[in-house]
Amino acid sequence: MAQHERLIIIGSGPAGYTAALYASRASLKPLLVEGLQPGGQLTITSEVENYPGFVEPILGPELMERMKAQAERFGTRYELGEVTRVDLSRKPFQLWMDDRLLTADAVIIATGASAKWLDIPSEKRYQGRGVSACATCDGFFFRGVEVAVVGGGDTAMEEANFLTKFATRVHLVHRRDELRASKIMQERTLRNPKVQLQLSSTIDEILGDGKAVTGVRLLSTKDGSKRELPVKGVFMGIGHEPNTRIFKGQLEMNDVGYLVVKAPSTYTSVPGVFAAGDVSDPSYRQAVSAAGTGCMAAIDAERWLGEHATETWD
Ligand code: FAD
Ligand code: NAP
Repeated sequence: MAQHERLIIIGSGPAGYTAALYASRASLKPLLVEGLQPGGQLTITSEVENYPGFVEPILGPELMERMKAQAERFGTRYELGEVTRVDLSRKPFQLWMDDRLLTADAVIIATGASAKWLDIPSEKRYQGRGVSACATCDGFFFRGVEVAVVGGGDTAMEEANFLTKFATRVHLVHRRDELRASKIMQERTLRNPKVQLQLSSTIDEILGDGKAVTGVRLLSTKDGSKRELPVKGVFMGIGHEPNTRIFKGQLEMNDVGYLVVKAPSTYTSVPGVFAAGDVSDPSYRQAVSAAGTGCMAAIDAERWLGEHATETWD
């Protein structure tokens, strides 16, 4: 027997919890499936300084605990585990958590996006201690020091330019001798006197003293030679991957897998399925914008359920 729910929210980042807060206050009694990273991306960072309402920095995991508790207070129920498969072509919608089947009248997808990483051991060792994938979030902590940005696309250009507000020098490390970024972003970056290109180079190792990053060792992709840079921060700018694998072929996506919503709403290509947060946002990717669209998704879902309340599912 399938467990039937009026509204299922997939994902427990700022978008999912905010959707849950609004949906539970609207008496929809949502069920929220938390996924393998309860609390989402902010649980892997330390201080959050740009979430409105917190004059002093708040730790990412604490902010997410508060969001969870706030939604719980109004009746949100939580389910540990992940949604492994969906069928959005049938009504009610079908969602599986491994072998367990859940059905729902409406679904909010808030599964986020994940930064791509280099996949070297030293990167994991120094994550949150000098290694970051978000310049907007962590750039502020690198005032007066040198940093490196990895990547040759628009994200890397944007991160490198932004970091020049704080760092004395930004080394842009790219594996080829040609940048991938758009002309305008390249020009803006190359014009910036604080940016130093390190082309045809990959990061061989992130160096540190056990507590923090002290440098990087670069490997030339041309001749295999190695050299070191005295940076205190290393920012990954090699792209993000939206967590949309289970929706492939069922929902409209852009060419790199972000869910397409009918702006200015959170409607996806399937009526009754809504998307919020990073999963449908290739450009802003901030906690507050994710929370904002989470709110919109709950309001969209509430209105949609109201209009379709008398529909009989086949
Ligand atoms: P996420 O936070 O990515 O959460 C996605 C959720 O979906 C997770 O709970 C995951 O478990 C769940 N999920 C995924 N797949 C499934 C599935 N199949 N089934 C069930 N659940 C699933 N932004 C700021 O505004 N300020 C900051 O200071 C800041 N610092 C950051 C620091 C770091 C290191 C990183 C990586 C990001 C930072 N960001 C910051 C960005 C911010 O974290 C994201 O924009 C925000 O978390 C996006 O929220 P979201 O709810 O869309 O998704
Ligand atoms: P991207 O265009 O795919 O670029 C990723 C870059 O990282 C590439 O230069 C790639 O190198 C490099 N890279 C990937 N994996 C790597 C690895 N393992 N090791 C070293 N380098 C690696 O991704 P993006 O920059 O995130 O941009 C994604 C999309 O968003 C693009 O369409 C972009 O235009 C858009 N965007 C726009 C803006 C803006 O307009 N302001 C800002 C950000 C993003 P190669 O070049 O060798 O493949």
